[in-house]
Amino acid sequence: MSNAPANYADFYRQSIDQPDAFWAEQSRLIEWHKPFDRVCNYDNPPFVQWFEGGETNLCHNAVDRHLKDRADQAALIAVSSETGLEKTYTFKDLHLEVQRMAASLKALGVQKGDRVLIYMPMIAEAAFAMLACARIGAIHCVVFGGFASGSLAARIEDATPKVIVSADAGSRGGRALAYKPLLDEAIRLSNHKPEAVLLANRKLAPMAIVAGRDHLWDDLRAIHLDAQIPCEWLDSTAISYTIYTSGTTGKAKGVQRDTGGYAVALAASMKHIFDGRAGETFFSTSDIGWVVGHSYIVYGPLIGGMATILYEGLPTQGMDGKPDGAIWWSLVEKYRVTTMFSAPTAVRVLKKQDPALLKKYNLSSLRALFLAGEPLDEPTARWISEGLNVPIIDNYWQTESGWPILTVANGVEKKASKFGSPGVPMYGYNVKLLHESTGEELTVPGEKGVVVLDGPTPPGFMQTIWNDDARFVNTYWKSVPGRMVYNTFDWGIRDKDGYYFILGRTDDVINVAGHRLGTREIEESISGHLQVAEVAVVGVADALKGQVAMAFVVLKDASASQDSAVSLKLEAEIMKRVDNDLGAVARPARVRFVTALPKTRSGKLLRRAIQAVCEGRDAGDLTTMDDPAALQQVKDLVTK
Ligand code: AMP
Repeated sequence: MSNAPANYADFYRQSIDQPDAFWAEQSRLIEWHKPFDRVCNYDNPPFVQWFEGGETNLCHNAVDRHLKDRADQAALIAVSSETGLEKTYTFKDLHLEVQRMAASLKALGVQKGDRVLIYMPMIAEAAFAMLACARIGAIHCVVFGGFASGSLAARIEDATPKVIVSADAGSRGGRALAYKPLLDEAIRLSNHKPEAVLLANRKLAPMAIVAGRDHLWDDLRAIHLDAQIPCEWLDSTAISYTIYTSGTTGKAKGVQRDTGGYAVALAASMKHIFDGRAGETFFSTSDIGWVVGHSYIVYGPLIGGMATILYEGLPTQGMDGKPDGAIWWSLVEKYRVTTMFSAPTAVRVLKKQDPALLKKYNLSSLRALFLAGEPLDEPTARWISEGLNVPIIDNYWQTESGWPILTVANGVEKKASKFGSPGVPMYGYNVKLLHESTGEELTVPGEKGVVVLDGPTPPGFMQTIWNDDARFVNTYWKSVPGRMVYNTFDWGIRDKDGYYFILGRTDDVINVAGHRLGTREIEESISGHLQVAEVAVVGVADALKGQVAMAFVVLKDASASQDSAVSLKLEAEIMKRVDNDLGAVARPARVRFVTALPKTRSGKLLRRAIQAVCEGRDAGDLTTMDDPAALQQVKDLVTK
C-alpha cells in the first residue's frame, strides 16, 4: 500500500473506520475482469455484499493469472504417504488438468450455479474439481471424506448437487477406506439423486459402477485432454461454495461464501497474516473437507502465487508406509516450505515422537508455523516453538469466517505472540465481548464474555446459510438480547494489551482433534438405537485430542445396563451406529449407562454440569436441578 499505515493499530483502525477505502486498496491484490461499482453494500443488515458490480473468478486468480510469470513453477504438490505417490503440477499443468475437469463436468451437464458435491480423499483430483467448479461458476460443496453415509446423505439432500465427484477409496494408516459404497448408500438414503457421479479410480478398492450414472475420471479426462474452457466471469457476489458445519441443532448448516470478497480476503491474508510470497511453498496439513483446506490448501496459496502441498496420510508415516515421525519435516526440507499451517492436535501427536526428529532435516526455509482449529495449550506451543525455532502463530477463526479473526498480522507489523492467546482482532473484524445475558459490552480487561462481531462482517465472511436466510439471521445475529451482532458462540476474555483468550464454546458444539462436531448430531444417531430411551453427549477434555465425545445413555430396559456383558455389547453397537451414520470422527470415546440424566426442573439437559463432573470440576449452580441423584450417578461412573 502506498499510503500504508506504519503500524498495525492504524492499519486496523482504518479497516474499521474507513472500510470502503481500506478494502478498495486490498481489492487491488486480485485481478478483476470488470471493476466494481461499490465496495460495501450494507443496506440490508446483517447481509453484506462486497464489491458489487465487479466481475472476477477464483480459478482465474488462483491459476490462469500466474501463467504469465510462473507457468513452470510448482503450483500443486500432491504427496501421499498412504500410496507413496508424489507428484508436482506446475501452474501450466494445473491449468490443463482443471480445464479437463471443467470440460468433464460440463459434459455431465453442469452449468453455472449448479452444485457439485465433492466427497474425496486428499488427492490432486479433489483440488482440480474445486478449481474446475470455480472456473465454470458451479458451486462446490466439499464434504469431509471421514463422514459416513448418514451425514453425506443429509448434505446431498440439502445441496441438491447435479453431479457428485468422488473416488473409489481413501486410505488411512495404510488401510484403504472404500468411499464408493458409502456414497452409493448415501445416494440411496437421500431424496435428491444426482444426475451423474464422476469417480477417480485409485485402484485401492473395487467399485460397483452404476450404468448411466457413474463415469470414470480417467475416461472423461482422456476425451477432454485438450479442452480449453475459459473462466466464466462471475459477479463478485456470486456464490463460490458452501461448506457444511455443525451447530446446536442436528441439521448441519451450509455456510455460503461469495466470489470476489473471498478472493480479496484470501489475497490480503496471504500478505498481511501469513506473509507468504509468490514462488514460495505453503504447507497446510489440513483436509480439503474443512474450511482451512479450502482457504489455505487450495485457494489462498495459489492466489498468492505460491506452491501448495496437498498431503494425504498420517503425520507419523513415511513414504514407504513405515512409521516416520519426521515425514512432514522431510517435506519442509525437500520443497523449501516457508509457511506451514497445522492444528494443535497434530503437534500433540508429534510430541509423542523422539524430539531429535525435529532436528533431522534442514528447516531453514521455514519462517513460521500457524496453528488453528482448537485452543493451543502452552506446553504444546512451547515444545514446538523450541523444537523448530520459528514463531508459532496461533490463529482463531471459524468455518463461517473463512480466514483468521484473531491472530497477529506479522506481514503488517511484527508483533509478539502471547502463549495461550490467538492474538488481536484482524483488520475488518470489529470484535467485541458482550455480557451473556444483558448483552452489555465488556470493557474491563479480564472480564469473561461472549465473543461477537459487529457488522458489516469483512470480505470472505459467510454470506448466509445456503437456502436459509432466516436461519442465518436467527442463529447468528439474534442470539444476544437487544443487539444485532454476529455471535461466534465462543467465550473469551481480553487482556489489557487487547489480546484475546478463547475459553471454549457457549453452545453444544465440541471440538475433537480440531474437528467441529455437534453433540446433537451424535445424540440423534445414538437415539436411533432401538434400546436407547435418552442420551446426552458432552465434550470432555482430552490430553491428545483437545476434547472427546462422551455419551450418557438411559436404556429403555434399565436392567440391561446392570449386566456388564450386555452393556459392553450395547456400547459397541452404539459406537458402530455412530460410525455408520456420521463417521468414526464422531464416535464417542465411551458410552456410559445411567438410569436418569441430570436435567433442570423444566426438563433441559444439564450438559455443562455433566461435562464439569467428567472433567473433575465443580458443576456450578445446581439450584434448578430436578434430580441430584442423576448427576451423582454420572460422578460415580466417571470417578470409578
Ligand atoms: P471450525 O468452524 O470447525 O473451524 O471451528 C471453529 C471453532 O473452533 C471456534 O468457534 C472455536 O471454538 C474453535 N477454535 C478455532 N480456532 C481456535 C483457536 N486458535 N483457539 C481456540 N479455539 C479455536
